[in-house]
Amino acid sequence: MRIRSWRLHLGRLLAAVLLLLVVGWISGYMLPVFVVAAFVYLGWHLYNSWNLHRWLATPQRPLPESKGIWADIFDRINGLQKQERRHRKQLEAVILEFRHATDAFPDATLVIDQNDIITWFNSAASELLGFKPTEDLGQPVTNLLRDPDFANWLAVQSQVKSTLEMISPIDSEVFLNVSAVQYREGQRLLIMRDVTNLRRLEQVRQDFVANVSHELRTPLTVLIGYLEVMQEQSTDSYSSAVTRMQDQAKQMQALLDDLLELSRLQNDTIETEEITVDVPALMAQVKEQAEEYSKGQHQLSFSVDPELHLKGVPQDLASVFRNLVVNAIRYTPEEGKIEAQWLEEDGLPVFLVRDNGVGIPKRDIPRLTERFYRVGSDRAKHTGGTGLGLSIVKHVLNAHQARLVIHSELGEGSEFRCEFPEQRLIRHKHQKAVSS
Ligand code: ADP
Repeated sequence: MRIRSWRLHLGRLLAAVLLLLVVGWISGYMLPVFVVAAFVYLGWHLYNSWNLHRWLATPQRPLPESKGIWADIFDRINGLQKQERRHRKQLEAVILEFRHATDAFPDATLVIDQNDIITWFNSAASELLGFKPTEDLGQPVTNLLRDPDFANWLAVQSQVKSTLEMISPIDSEVFLNVSAVQYREGQRLLIMRDVTNLRRLEQVRQDFVANVSHELRTPLTVLIGYLEVMQEQSTDSYSSAVTRMQDQAKQMQALLDDLLELSRLQNDTIETEEITVDVPALMAQVKEQAEEYSKGQHQLSFSVDPELHLKGVPQDLASVFRNLVVNAIRYTPEEGKIEAQWLEEDGLPVFLVRDNGVGIPKRDIPRLTERFYRVGSDRAKHTGGTGLGLSIVKHVLNAHQARLVIHSELGEGSEFRCEFPEQRLIRHKHQKAVSS
């Protein structure tokens, strides 16, 4: 309240009191004059506060008019009211802008609270997921998106911070990539992007690679057959050329086999059955293959917990163990030591291969599981590797929710460790430990 109007009001009040004193003194009715004046003054205040009260109850009525200090109070309220209307308009404009922006957003976006109840979604969510603003706000998101993988992912998402791919609930041809952002206490923003085209492109690429590999296999087998015949009959002058051709053809065959294996693993439409895998028996086969591959040039040692079995896909797990052991032999010079272990460590089933071979530079380690990635391309050329072994390993381990941990020192050796989740561990009692 402005000080000036109060001063004016007090000045006027003082003048009125002086006037009343004079009137009271002249008329000789000092007390009645003051009592009447006090009642008039009180009545004026009561009338104005009643007006204010009425207006506060129904603010859409015009603001009451008055004089003096009350005119100033009403003016002030009027100013505040205008300011509030201006702010509200600005806020409405911001909200409208936000709505337009989120509606133009091509990804389905929704907000869920700590109980997974939907508190807001944009219009793309209506198109991609079939959500209806009138019915679906306030519903648990898992009631509307009934994919069990989605419910499982949502439960652990805040810890694992991963994304999920799922099929749209209204169109089985549409693939969605789902990610989540945590904001404020318990609130999550779910963003669902249509990745159907990307998936199709990826499928075309996979089919192309699989078809080409398949088509090349038969002529290559014929070539290898003829090369064997030529090898037997070749004269000294052609013998080395035929041997080189044979080596190259076999390398190409290994590459086609790995490409076909990788596309089989990437194909989600092939159902693979998980069973209890007798890993100790699998390790015995891997040991035989390793001995054959090493040709007695390395010191191989296998340590296997005979009671430890695993829930998984046997041929895929065999491929992982074989790839890692063969790699260790391939990248370890003659007389080097290779140690493979199958054991339980801190409650987790673990497979590890350790060698004292050439080792891997630190900067290459994160990229080893990429397709065709090799450490120093010249090094791999003489090894007979395809550059796909560790991609296959990574794929199989992902499908088994397992972790691949690689430790290596250049010139010292490497350790490849596969840590499987506890839930996959199966113990078969009453057998003795095998170590060789
Ligand atoms: P490749 O068929 O060429 O062996 P992989 O995918 O199996 O392909 O391995 C990728 C690269 O990782 C290899 O080219 C090699 O340089 C490196 N590598 C894998 N295992 C080892 C190991 N035990 N010691 C040293 N280097 C390794």
